[in-house]
Amino acid sequence: MLKSRRDRPSQPAASPPPAAEPNVRTVTRKDLPLSCPMPDAEVWNMHPRVYLPIEDDPNHEAICPYCGAKYKLRDE
Ligand SMILES: [Zn+2]
Repeated sequence: MLKSRRDRPSQPAASPPPAAEPNVRTVTRKDLPLSCPMPDAEVWNMHPRVYLPIEDDPNHEAICPYCGAKYKLRDE
């Protein structure tokens, strides 16, 4: 009697690649002008909207003075 049986090795859940700064939100030029909270953000909706001149920063980084969220502009 033949028994066909497939054992599937259990795969670990896919984990996101480690980020050096997990709290940094990467934005693109499509997100400009950058505002915090961002339009799609709900949990960040805790302070008046502020515009962050991220494109003027030499490192293209901005930190929201209200909630401390860090943004980094990624050139495409
Ligand atoms: Zn903020």
